[in-house]
Amino acid sequence: MSAKRFFAKDYAEARAKFLDAAAAAGGKVHTFKHPEKGPDGGALATDVLRIGSPNARKVVVIQSATHGVEGFCGSGTQVGWLRLGDWKKLPDGVAVVLVHAINPHGFAWIRRVTQENVDLNRNFPDFGKLPRRPALAELMPHVAPAEWTEATAAARRAAFGAFAAKHGPMGLQETISGGQYEYPNGIFFGGKAPTWSHLTFKAIVEKYLLKARRVAFVDMHTGLGPYGHGELITMGRPGNEKFDRAVAWYGDSVTSPEAGTSTSAKLSGLMEAALSDMLPKAEVTPIAVEYGTYPTAFVMESLMADNWLHLNGDLASPLARRIKADIRKAFYPDEDDWKELVLLKARQVFRRAVNHIAS
Ligand SMILES: [Zn+2]
Repeated sequence: MSAKRFFAKDYAEARAKFLDAAAAAGGKVHTFKHPEKGPDGGALATDVLRIGSPNARKVVVIQSATHGVEGFCGSGTQVGWLRLGDWKKLPDGVAVVLVHAINPHGFAWIRRVTQENVDLNRNFPDFGKLPRRPALAELMPHVAPAEWTEATAAARRAAFGAFAAKHGPMGLQETISGGQYEYPNGIFFGGKAPTWSHLTFKAIVEKYLLKARRVAFVDMHTGLGPYGHGELITMGRPGNEKFDRAVAWYGDSVTSPEAGTSTSAKLSGLMEAALSDMLPKAEVTPIAVEYGTYPTAFVMESLMADNWLHLNGDLASPLARRIKADIRKAFYPDEDDWKELVLLKARQVFRRAVNHIAS
């Protein structure tokens, strides 16, 4: 199976491939225009394709680029699903909504965050009661240093090592990546208000999902876990309705941060929790597909470097080119075998979502 033809080299190509595949499938795309431009001066947008019977009350949502640069992966799976004709096998009463690039700015600029420097999947908290993360204060000078040099890297390794020795590796991961609302110039910042992508997601829910009785949400991610492995992550613990349904649909390899079985730390301000709140009358079954790339230390370092670059660095410098190559690689291994693994697993997950929501 040649998977690589469905994947793109940049956001513009990914968008063109998606729009072409959508047109070939005879679907109508609704475009949410983004107010800013990409690094090439090109337009940015979230494009949404709905496929299936107009009156379907069971809807599977497949979303890419929640974390910008991770959209190379999600977009490739959406295009593959369309081009390989999987959409022709939809059962009666089921529709699929493909959300292409919910965070197009991060995708185009090869960043995990939105244009507001916000982690979209931490941007759905109760803004009146934002969680605090006091342990992060001692790490912040190393997470977001003023300079990016060998010396600051060595100091960071020492500080992170000492923190992990005291709180465990997952304690370090959760403190940094769990979501924070105090340092707008840090990483995994959840924002102080809804971002453009947050509001667009809400608009999509209102346009496509308010009449749905059952909703499956499949959110495509990369950057955690072993190379090419697609970990299926949901919320809650065994015994919770959502968790148990995810296991029944996708198998007992489903993990959850709350149950302590996931490579992901416990997170705050999640989109999938907000989706359930927005659809109180629907049965919502969320799953995140998290594909591994390279070791977590490399992925984290690439995020901190990119954060430094956009705050303090020169985007035209040789160092910027190195940093951009690293973050792209950390979330999108440009390897044929990785794309083959990604697409194989994605098609299985999408098929399970479609078949189980129908039953
Ligand atoms: Zn992600």
